[in-house]
Amino acid sequence: AKAAGGNRYEVADADSDARAIARHDLTNCLPGALDNGEFFIEYQPLVRLADGTVRGAEALVRWLHPVHGVLGPDQFIPLAESTGLIVPLGRWVLEEAARQARAWRNDDSCPLPLRVNVNLSPAQLRYPSLVAETVAVLDNAGLEPSALCLEVTESALIGADEEELRPLRQLADLGVDIALDDFGTGYSNLSYLRRLPVSTLKLDRSFTRGMQCAPADPVDVKIVEGIVSLAHTLDLSVTVEGVETGTQADHLRILGCETAQGWYYARPGPPERLHALSLADASS
Ligand code: C2E
Ligand code: CA
Ligand code: CA
Ligand code: CA
Repeated sequence: AKAAGGNRYEVADADSDARAIARHDLTNCLPGALDNGEFFIEYQPLVRLADGTVRGAEALVRWLHPVHGVLGPDQFIPLAESTGLIVPLGRWVLEEAARQARAWRNDDSCPLPLRVNVNLSPAQLRYPSLVAETVAVLDNAGLEPSALCLEVTESALIGADEEELRPLRQLADLGVDIALDDFGTGYSNLSYLRRLPVSTLKLDRSFTRGMQCAPADPVDVKIVEGIVSLAHTLDLSVTVEGVETGTQADHLRILGCETAQGWYYARPGPPERLHALSLADASS
């Protein structure tokens, strides 16, 4: 990871740095990192395609490692998952993100009530106190459940039975929005979607790469068209990640996708920046 001037960080590609940093080195210092306050969260705006307004943000965790600098989640989340640290780390991310959402909402200059999206790992889904703790976090932050969206990857849910889905269903019944993350990469049976307590499909960026420049790849257009139509039939909204160009955003808006996230709007950044972005679109 490298500092990109000022207090902005570029999170390095997992492939470039991760191999260079010995795995055992990270494993040794991961447990202490939470106590040492070495994790921080960047927020990436979620934009409503119809009018370009910022509606919320996804919380993306980073580790400011005392020796290696800023590490991206791809470099330590798998490790946190295999060591079980993901449960306390995930709890911390949720608490922090809820606190941040409260702060945005308390700010009277914020034109819209911003929501926050938090990623959930499979191990957190299996954690028995997930529902109780999530409810407690929302209560403590004074946040209504609909201000929170939990993102669960498609691959984490493939094959889950009703018992395993129960905590998510309970959260959904309370009003928490559940998004199916990285949709389209898990090769799930589409009819399976009907059984899931999700309200949003988060379409993986691999589907929209072909729309970055004009003319758009006609096959990609057809695929996204099909997914949007399926999603809307099931009463799901569609968020597209990895939107890097205006051309792409235009296509996705015309195709009926509701929400977009990507570098075209903003890279992940500090929470104050989200506030500034939401102010900017209110005054434009
Ligand atoms: P994700 O949930 O699919 O998050 C989106 C990733 O795409 C983020 O990478 C984001 O920085 C990146 N991205 C956003 N816009 C663009 C774009 O326009 N182009 C491209 N090429 N990339 C874009 P990041 O921050 O490295 O996070 C990687 C993954 O780590 C996330 O993928 C998520 O699965 C996981 N993750 C992040 N934070 C947490 C967390 O708190 N808990 C858990 N369990 N997983 C997390
Ligand atoms: Ca996500
Ligand atoms: Ca994703
Ligand atoms: Ca993805």
